[in-house]
Amino acid sequence: LLLLCCAMAAAQGTLKYKDPKQPLGARIRDLMNRMTLEEKIGQMVQIERSVATPEVMKKYFIGSVLSGGGSVPAQKATPETWVNMVNQIQKGSLSTRLGIPMIYGIDAVHGHNNVYGATIFPHNVGLGVTRDPNLLKRIGEATALEVRATGIPYVFAPCIAVCRDPRWGRCYESYSEDYRIVQQMTEIIPGLQGDLPTKRRGVPFVGGKTKVAACAKHFVGDGGTVRGIDENNTVINEQGLFGIHMPAYYNAVNKGVATIMVSYSAWNGLRMHANKELVTGFLKNKLKFRGFVISDWQGIDRITTPPHLNYSYSVYAGISAGIDMIMVPFNYTEFIDEINSQIQKKLIPISRIDDAVKRILRVKFTMGLFEEPLADLSFANQLGSKEHRELAREAVRKSLVLLKNGKTGAKPLLPLPKKTGKILVAGTHADNLAYQCGGWTITWQGLNGNDVTIGTTILTAVKNTVAPTTQVVYSQNPDANFVQSGKFDYAIVVVGEPPYAEMFGDSTNLTISEPGPSTIKNVCGSVKCVVVVVSGRPVVIQPYVSTIDALVAAWLPGTEGQGVADTLFGDYGFTGKLARTWFKSVKQLPMNVGDRSYDPLYPFGFGLTTKPYKL
Ligand code: BGC
Repeated sequence: LLLLCCAMAAAQGTLKYKDPKQPLGARIRDLMNRMTLEEKIGQMVQIERSVATPEVMKKYFIGSVLSGGGSVPAQKATPETWVNMVNQIQKGSLSTRLGIPMIYGIDAVHGHNNVYGATIFPHNVGLGVTRDPNLLKRIGEATALEVRATGIPYVFAPCIAVCRDPRWGRCYESYSEDYRIVQQMTEIIPGLQGDLPTKRRGVPFVGGKTKVAACAKHFVGDGGTVRGIDENNTVINEQGLFGIHMPAYYNAVNKGVATIMVSYSAWNGLRMHANKELVTGFLKNKLKFRGFVISDWQGIDRITTPPHLNYSYSVYAGISAGIDMIMVPFNYTEFIDEINSQIQKKLIPISRIDDAVKRILRVKFTMGLFEEPLADLSFANQLGSKEHRELAREAVRKSLVLLKNGKTGAKPLLPLPKKTGKILVAGTHADNLAYQCGGWTITWQGLNGNDVTIGTTILTAVKNTVAPTTQVVYSQNPDANFVQSGKFDYAIVVVGEPPYAEMFGDSTNLTISEPGPSTIKNVCGSVKCVVVVVSGRPVVIQPYVSTIDALVAAWLPGTEGQGVADTLFGDYGFTGKLARTWFKSVKQLPMNVGDRSYDPLYPFGFGLTTKPYKL
């Protein structure tokens, strides 16, 4: 028996690709030489977890699985449920002839946002305000650990879009209208993946089990579409594309980003999913990006309008453009048959398939997936940990922008005194954790209410912060009479936008949701008030500004509402500077810093400061 076992080990030892001591290139070559066409095609396919049974993984040699926006095993699933689910799928892959592990990806775009109990960080629109790359790096590190807690090694983040028009429903996924801030914020990538050991440009790097593969998205020009219409056409000359939308990709590639997702949008009429010049010519050949390029969800189908009009053409155009992994996500047999037939007909050369598979294997080998394909629960206690919540709270404090502090000639209202008689907290967003988190939280479009996950609403945070003798009265939408008769010393009004995500978030009026405006009127008309706006982008505020004593942009702060109270009550000072232009009227849009006619309500870079009480 001993002999047999040693003989088997020796035989195993001859499989070069399984030997971690072999150089990366040798492992890839060895494995590629052993693979059939079917096995290669399988590596290029990413399917949705609901169809990813172990049998399907095995039969089609599927290379990757995803949880799309909010596709969770069950509401309130524990890390254990996640780990078991991911491992079960993985076992299907490991049972194939060559045992190539699949890679599981998820949208962790502001923390591990699909998962109950995870720390939800502010959305990117708030993080851009901080101008703090080191903070972004730490957020990346924390997010990687929380994602690993659920057995997942790959995230579809960061979004490095440069949102040029707040009417776009994904503007909150963008750090700034200024590409330089977006470039700085790519420091989240080494946070997620680990620091590059060498400066070899373009080579993907993921530093082991505490890190995850990242995905810079959406390549390129997603934030520049006409009138901010999602998935639309970005009409801009080459100078504009390369000067505004491309720069952050240099940083991402230089920092070793493992994967890049192509944008649904078009550039001057050509869908990015079919843009060979930019995907292959620029990204792969010029920038020397050596990780893999992934399509967006049904992105290949959407090369045509309407989607899936001519699937043969779409597959041909997408693969020829240079897309390596295809987020199918359901009709995988249709895709497999189609690409197979085009290879047989020599429409798609095998060299293109080899390029794709090599890139996918490079990422899988680099991150140690072959050595440790199965997850365990050793990181489970990282999910929503105290340290991560502290970090998110710090991020919230730094992401706030103080836009007004005191009426003309009057004393500043902020910081607020903790010790006072009676204060009023009001507004649709004062006690709504889901609203605080926005879209891409637990579900794709976001939710409504406090039971969605674990966190602190702004109301609770205010109660936690004031002196025990201060009376806090909460009324979501008080009428003027209630406010006048309540004899409040001051009021905190929290209003804004309800959650939304792509496809449902585009807006032409950018108003505060009802009854927010009347709450502002009723409260601020009779008592000193600070209005806190919880929104994914600048909204129409000019009509109310004169009645407001103090105004704070809180963006979408996430689960740690305590960071808002920390700053309102002077435990910390306001430091944030606008990373977006705040318009007067939607008629001005698009309007960005540097425009010839620039007449904002609050300009890019604006932000008042306060001194913390303790200084
Ligand atoms: C979005 C991507 C996301 C993908 C997977 C798409 O609809 O555009 O940003 O990563 O879905 O959920």
